[in-house]
Amino acid sequence: MRRPILAANWKMYKTVGEALAFVREFLPYTRGMDSVEIVLAPPFTALEPVARALAATSVKLAAQNVAAHEEGAFTGEVAPRMLADLGCTYTIVGHSERRQLFAETDHAIARKAELLLAHGVRPIVCVGETLAQRESGQTFEVVGTQLEASLSRIPVERAEEVVIAYEPVWAIGTGKTATPALAQEVHAFVRERLGKTFGAAAAQMRIQYGGSVKPDNVYALMAEQDIDGALVGGASLDPVSFSRIVRFDGPEEPQ
Ligand code: PEP
Repeated sequence: MRRPILAANWKMYKTVGEALAFVREFLPYTRGMDSVEIVLAPPFTALEPVARALAATSVKLAAQNVAAHEEGAFTGEVAPRMLADLGCTYTIVGHSERRQLFAETDHAIARKAELLLAHGVRPIVCVGETLAQRESGQTFEVVGTQLEASLSRIPVERAEEVVIAYEPVWAIGTGKTATPALAQEVHAFVRERLGKTFGAAAAQMRIQYGGSVKPDNVYALMAEQDIDGALVGGASLDPVSFSRIVRFDGPEEPQ
């Protein structure tokens, strides 16, 4: 049984004060929600105060990126050990914005994932095709190549700690969500590929969907067999909106 994992990627939004205000408003909605895993990924500057605010709760902390090095003369970078030290349970690697805007390669992503695991932090590894790649029929080839290369340093016995986020680039921040059937098609492909690499562990590995997930489309996405959660950008910035997403029970106001 795979426990659903719903993660908020705040990208480059929220000061410390704004992040803490979100947590204060959001936490009451999460009481008693043991059946799902909820993750917040604030910007680096808010990690430590948010970690404190989440300390006595079941909500987990994630970073949005990490260096591909243990430590050293890498001005402006943040080491895996530093994220572990702050209490990050997860860290997002290979987000399409980092691939596209910061030229992040599969090779670097593989190293980041390896180092994170070595420090006890679980990687959320993002993959996904662009619109041009989808329209030219390359979706499976692109996603397959990204998966194989990004996961190349993960030992089989640690595979279940890794989360995959399938995020079609054309759906991120655009308001265009993949239909549940279209997303499921790629998720099934991802699981099959994971099976080739990791064997039986693939059945336990969680695969999130990301790309304009909202309170009113999350339920149908989560109903698909191989969709085990969501990585949410825009709709995770508001505590009420994200609280509806983590419940994935439709557009009603939570009690
Ligand atoms: C994301 O940032 O991973 C994302 C999916 O963003 P959005 O939900 O805004 O499309």
